[in-house]
Amino acid sequence: MSVSPSLVNQPLLLQAVAFASQKHRTQRRKDDVTPYINHPLHVALLLSDVAGVTDSGILAAAVLHDTVEDTDATVGEVAAHFGERIAKLVFEVTDDDTMHYRERKQYEIDHAPQLSDDATLIKVADRTSNVMDLVEAPAVGWDVQRRQQYLRWAEMVVNNCRPVNGALATNFAEVAERVRQQLGMGS
Ligand code: ZN
Repeated sequence: MSVSPSLVNQPLLLQAVAFASQKHRTQRRKDDVTPYINHPLHVALLLSDVAGVTDSGILAAAVLHDTVEDTDATVGEVAAHFGERIAKLVFEVTDDDTMHYRERKQYEIDHAPQLSDDATLIKVADRTSNVMDLVEAPAVGWDVQRRQQYLRWAEMVVNNCRPVNGALATNFAEVAERVRQQLGMGS
């Protein structure tokens, strides 16, 4: 299914959900069980629920945030369906896959302060969701060390983000602390 013309008259957020669920339709999360779409929906829900975001453009970008990185969707395609603002936001939180893994992970830490306010919101909610998954839906083949390493990296990314939303930052710190305990890392 491509996004059918009838979707054009639907609310923006519903169009984003339809587009993302179609693009991610064959994918599962790293636990090999959870449908991929649960993650971008979780990121959007965190923004609405925890951060109090009501801007449907930001919520739509959150739903779409992994489509360019992890599916055949392109920034141009997202722009054509959802406009430049949302496409730019998705692009801002898309990893550059021409970089090697370690380089990309370091870049994400270093680049965090340069993100726009809206992209920062998505980045922090994205990291919150992934950190929760470390204990709630752990990746197949990730031992405790690997999960601890991911948590430390995610904390470095979020700590380097500009303070755009206090509630979201506090929530991340609480989630990280809980996961830290569950992974046996102490405080
Ligand atoms: Zn994500």
